[in-house]
Amino acid sequence: MDDRLQQAVEQLRSEGVRMTPQRYAILEYLMKSKRHPTADEIYRALSPHYSSLSVATVYNNLKLFIEAGLVRELTYGDDSSRFDADLSDHYHAICEKCGAIVDFEHPPIHEVEREAEARTGFRIHGHRLEVYGICPACASMQA
Ligand code: ZN
Ligand code: MN
Repeated sequence: MDDRLQQAVEQLRSEGVRMTPQRYAILEYLMKSKRHPTADEIYRALSPHYSSLSVATVYNNLKLFIEAGLVRELTYGDDSSRFDADLSDHYHAICEKCGAIVDFEHPPIHEVEREAEARTGFRIHGHRLEVYGICPACASMQA
């Protein structure tokens, strides 16, 4: 079991959250996935292995993981939310054709926050940035 998963399981246990096989599977799937899955995608990937799994169970667990600070909910556009268990500082490139979300790293743009503070008087504690375009797979289909 990888360290991050182990740590997350221990954190949940210390908060009194019981670790069921389904809960573990959902958490593991999220931590292994690079694709920022929707709740439905998680359900479809795991339901063949867990016959009693329901979409509602997936949603309830996602909510629990978000409240525990283990998962981020991504709400881009009007499509259903996607979920990211990678909490490191990173940004997302979003394909306008297929909806793929790909991670990229860039030093956090702190001067934007300082500028916003200076101009608005707000105490700024974060920012959100994503870039939009066409992914390589969709671009090659267009060519
Ligand atoms: Zn695409
Ligand atoms: Mn990400």
